[in-house]
Amino acid sequence: MDGQVFKKLLEEIAEKIKENRQFLTDLDQVIGDGDHGINMDRGFSKVLEKIPSMPDDVSMCMKQTGMTLVSTVGGAAGPLYGTAFMKAGDAIKGKEEVGVGEAILMMDAAIQGVMKLGKATTGEKTMLDSLVPAYEALKECLEAGKEAKVCFVEAVEAAEAGVEYTKTIIATKGRASYLGERSIGHQDPGATSSLVILTVIRDFLA
Ligand code: ADP
Ligand code: MG
Repeated sequence: MDGQVFKKLLEEIAEKIKENRQFLTDLDQVIGDGDHGINMDRGFSKVLEKIPSMPDDVSMCMKQTGMTLVSTVGGAAGPLYGTAFMKAGDAIKGKEEVGVGEAILMMDAAIQGVMKLGKATTGEKTMLDSLVPAYEALKECLEAGKEAKVCFVEAVEAAEAGVEYTKTIIATKGRASYLGERSIGHQDPGATSSLVILTVIRDFLA
């Protein structure tokens, strides 16, 4: 994928986030403060506006996307997703095209960034519960020599299972942690928005 193709993917991510605005907000209404879809859509709408002026360079697009998210998205998710995109962009600096190897590097860097900033790990009912299993599935699949599009199908399946898993656990990070045991039974909005993004990548590659 080169910079131009990547911009198309970014546009599709922004569109899908908009489509899921209400759904993500409804999920956050139950265990948070009901703004996750609004936050994500605000950020990605701004990204969508900026795409035409971004350079045709995947790394730079990722970095500018991250900076836009940090500066326009309120709440916890803005800085966390912003960092994820910026770190992913840094991980592939100078590369004109990104392939499967770069996808692994980007996702790894994004996850490390979220973990560090959010002081979080898996099992805390956050976006990490879909991102980490997706990353692990992707890596395993690519190492087994399978095609990228097949591996993204597997990554999305792992993220879906991760979102299901968030229903079974107590939130220990973010606003949902205020609910304690009452957070059980509800899926995490951030894990769900990560699943939405991964699903767009899967469909784009297909
Ligand atoms: P806020 O909680 O500030 O209202 P959002 O509603 O936009 O922000 O985002 C909430 C989501 O952010 C949660 O569903 C969770 O997935 C994610 N999140 C919150 N805190 C953390 C953290 N410390 N590390 C990783 N993800 C987190
Ligand atoms: Mg919220």
